Amino acid sequence: MTWNASRVVVTGGAGFLGSHLADRLLADGAEVVCLDNLITGSERNVSHLVGNPRFTLRIEDITRPWSVDGPVDAVLHFASLASPVDYLQHPLATLEVGTLGTMSALRIAEDKGARFLLASTSEVYGDPLVHPQPETYWGNVNPIGPRGVYDESKRVSEAFAMAFMNARGVEVRIARIFNTFGPRMRDHDGRAVPQFVTQALAGTPLTVYGDGTQTRSLCYVDDLIEGLIRLLGSEYTQPVNLGNPHEVTMLQLAEMIRDACDSASVIEMQPLPVDDPQRRCPDVSVALRELDWRAEVPLEEGLRRTIAWWRGQGR
Ligand code: UDP
Repeated sequence: MTWNASRVVVTGGAGFLGSHLADRLLADGAEVVCLDNLITGSERNVSHLVGNPRFTLRIEDITRPWSVDGPVDAVLHFASLASPVDYLQHPLATLEVGTLGTMSALRIAEDKGARFLLASTSEVYGDPLVHPQPETYWGNVNPIGPRGVYDESKRVSEAFAMAFMNARGVEVRIARIFNTFGPRMRDHDGRAVPQFVTQALAGTPLTVYGDGTQTRSLCYVDDLIEGLIRLLGSEYTQPVNLGNPHEVTMLQLAEMIRDACDSASVIEMQPLPVDDPQRRCPDVSVALRELDWRAEVPLEEGLRRTIAWWRGQGR
């Protein structure tokens, strides 16, 4: 890969993925400016970077007017409320960051002549009717359901990105990110992995929703970051699925996590949330072809690392 960014803006840079991206970009020698309003992010995620002269964290809401001084080679738009629990609690903030926030981040990229990478999502496929999901599938989304604020804001973000590319010449890259997990997810994030890990470590019941037969395909964060860096450096301008195609049911996941934590927690069935997708699994052939990328870390190993991190937090 020949393309290299020396100064990068990361929106959502104090979040789960944004902070891991900042780590990687700094390790690769770039200067990194993170913006975050801390609605779901945390300064703790980047506290180890404070004092690095190539790192800046700005506490800022990107849905309000903002700018960046000096040259910028890439804008990575990761500001988002990515957990169903968060976007149910903050539907307007979710819509705003995925519409106004995306538009303003694209304008900054245009002004700076920077490459733009959008953190899109497998949720653009909604509750999919095609398995596994290729990028050519248009999805099955309920626009007025509780997930609509997230799904539709990501879909319109993709439309914004394509429009800025076609009408304004911005170089865009679109990552459709499937379920990803790892260190720095929050205790009360609400997503399956942090939920089951914190419950298993506390010895409280693991709350499996529905009958637990719904599936997800879980990617360890280090794999995802490698895929994102490759996509940023590639010349491919169409959406790319990034995820691990290894599909598990949520009941299997709960049992794996309970075993890996050596926990005696029971499994407790609870009602399935509205519009909860029944199956999700990426077709990753485009990522393999265009980026020579595939997820390498097995689920068991990723869970081991994640659980070790959680234990190390003294939680
Ligand atoms: N889930 C669950 N128990 C929990 C949290 C989530 O069974 O305590 C299920 C949820 O219903 C969904 C799957 O795990 O089917 C993944 O949910 P998550 O919130 O991680 O993200 P999603 O893929 O739905 O956006």
